[in-house]
Amino acid sequence: MSHTPLNPELPQRWRLRNPSSGREVVLTAQPGIRYVDRETGEELEVAGRLLPLAPTPSWLPWAVETLRICPTCEQLVQQDLNYCPYDGRRLPPLGDPPPGRQAKPTGS
Ligand SMILES: [Zn+2]
Repeated sequence: MSHTPLNPELPQRWRLRNPSSGREVVLTAQPGIRYVDRETGEELEVAGRLLPLAPTPSWLPWAVETLRICPTCEQLVQQDLNYCPYDGRRLPPLGDPPPGRQAKPTGS
């Protein structure tokens, strides 16, 4: 173990999925350990890692709320920039979502 109190190593969080029901759970999983669905007892398969990848000093993910995609070069850029740092093109004003990307009403 090489972590220090100033830079603790955080455990990796994983998305695990029940292959038959499609239900997903997020937990701090250890490699080499089998996880089963609490309700059905079926074995869960790893669906993916959650960002950020361990080890990292931060839980903060890349925030979708603070980034947008440059319409010219399609790089992720901070929303408060007026010009794209990659190609220097002027970015469109905020509050003007590109067509087809409007948020859908949520609720299930
Ligand atoms: Zn760009």
